[in-house]
Amino acid sequence: MELKCKIQTYDWGRHGINSTVATLMKSANPDFVLDEKKPHAELWMGTHPNGPSYMKDLNITLEEYIKQNNEVLGNSVQQTFGSHLPFLLKVLSVNKALSIQAHPNKKKAKELHQQYPTIYKDANHKPELAIALTPFEALCGFRPIREIKEFLKVLPELRAVIGEDKVLKFMTTDEAGITKALKTCFHSLMTCDPGLIALQLRKLLDRLSNLDESLRQTLHASLLERLYSDYPGDVGCFGIYFFNFITMQPGEAIYLGPNEPHAYLSGDCVECMACSDNVVRAGLTPKLKDVPTLVEILTYTCEPLSAKRFQPSREDECTEVFRPPVSDFAVAKITIPLGRSSYNIIPRSTASILIIINGKGEISSSKILYRGSVVFIPANEKVGIKVLCGCHPMLMFQAFVNV
Ligand SMILES: [Zn+2]
Repeated sequence: MELKCKIQTYDWGRHGINSTVATLMKSANPDFVLDEKKPHAELWMGTHPNGPSYMKDLNITLEEYIKQNNEVLGNSVQQTFGSHLPFLLKVLSVNKALSIQAHPNKKKAKELHQQYPTIYKDANHKPELAIALTPFEALCGFRPIREIKEFLKVLPELRAVIGEDKVLKFMTTDEAGITKALKTCFHSLMTCDPGLIALQLRKLLDRLSNLDESLRQTLHASLLERLYSDYPGDVGCFGIYFFNFITMQPGEAIYLGPNEPHAYLSGDCVECMACSDNVVRAGLTPKLKDVPTLVEILTYTCEPLSAKRFQPSREDECTEVFRPPVSDFAVAKITIPLGRSSYNIIPRSTASILIIINGKGEISSSKILYRGSVVFIPANEKVGIKVLCGCHPMLMFQAFVNV
């Protein structure tokens, strides 16, 4: 059952044919007119009210269809989540940084929604998994303490905005007090006077421009310059010295659990999350920042970059599956290699949504699917794919419920 999906034109999105979101839409929908002036940031596949998908042949929303045909979700989904599809699948095309953010856990999400319903419109948690389609850059999680200390040693500008007294405490405290000291430093940075932030950022950029290349690399000079040109004077620019900077190659993934700080910086990815739009922002954004909430909820777990990559497990020769530690969703990456003419998708006991990223195929000997086609598959449905274009491996992603 083919879906017609919504796109979001947030201003950080990629433009024209540089946006995977735009080219997927264009390829699967002949009537889609690509407006080169608009950023095409996100493609939404699911039932979230801010961007609901429609059943192409029935002209009702997927949400309505599920309401009328509850059994398509699968028994285990109905038991755990009632009559709702619990996940939202997306494709993202990121031109410039999205805000530094975290997503509260279920309990906190409920509290925030009750207290500030106009700001926090959603009462659900939002764990998310991002799988790169093109080289994809992000900030995620706090760096190991040792790395943060190294930066503080050589960046007087960063010490100036945090406060020398707080930095000294952080540098000298023992292991028992380190999390608290880190939280204090981060809080102090995020609440620093914007005028002082702008001044020290300017100072730092001037200094970096005169350093030799190896030192510039150590201090992430070009990344800082890029962020600064998109968000001049924004406190989030200093975030690169607190958070891990990761570059993922196509197929590599990160999982962001509740309260984990992150910011996507550039590239295209497939993203799956609990059906929610619940974000606490604190930098690299023109949108509302809620620093007290963000500082309060963050996990101050300091881990190396290597711990951030999320590994899939292989199910058969074509399918790898990413199973995060939540029941809301899992994502299968299906690659039909060159030379193979057909593949039977592994049946799932839950409803699923499948998107074709590369290739052309015939599904269940009736419908032709192109790059960008999106289908809803009811629970336990057997789906066979016949490859119609043998010039590239066929690449698909299938989100289903992890129960
Ligand atoms: Zn996020």
